[in-house]
Amino acid sequence: MSNLHAPVCRRCRREGAKLFLKGEKCFIKCVVEKRPFAPGRAGKSRTRKKTTDYGIRLREKQKLKKMLGINEAKMKLYYERAQRMPGRTGENLLKLVEMRLDNVARRLGLATSPRFARQLVGHGHVLIGGRRITVPSYEVKPGDILELKGLKNNFFVDLSRQNFERRGGVLPGWLNWDSASQKGRVLRLPEKGELSFPINDQYIVEFYTRR
Ligand code: SF4
Repeated sequence: MSNLHAPVCRRCRREGAKLFLKGEKCFIKCVVEKRPFAPGRAGKSRTRKKTTDYGIRLREKQKLKKMLGINEAKMKLYYERAQRMPGRTGENLLKLVEMRLDNVARRLGLATSPRFARQLVGHGHVLIGGRRITVPSYEVKPGDILELKGLKNNFFVDLSRQNFERRGGVLPGWLNWDSASQKGRVLRLPEKGELSFPINDQYIVEFYTRR
């Protein structure tokens, strides 16, 4: 079971991969690079154990959950919805989570990390079509216009955009940001090559189908 309340870097160490949960800091100083083994006293010995096929698939699913900050019930709902959609289930799953409002805010460069993006939405700073939305999992649709409430006075959001541009952050083709009006627009649904979660979706599908 994943522990969403565990210290952030511990979650990455548990998965043995950089999940980029702290935004900017992940590019500067990363604990996983310094201590590439599981947390805890038995961490080093645990990572030496051979991972089973089931374990590999479980870890891939856990990685996505931790990146999104969601629990198992929500993850299962995404999977079941993806199954009902036409096309590849794994790809559908990644497309569904890509269209979450918190993720769109992150990809627009308004938040440096998934956690900050969730806070931004949860605290009511994001408007869609002029309506305040406070649900991070809200599904954004093509044509939606996203803006921030109190952006001009929001130091952290300004900083996020500056950092995003300084890092040469490139917006995906399905999103647009207008600096003059400080508004983002969802142009269309993302395509396969434009998905941002570095996850092997097939492993997640296999995890649920083999249970
Ligand atoms: Fe994960 Fe970022 Fe912490 Fe590195 S710095 S362990 S990528 S959250």
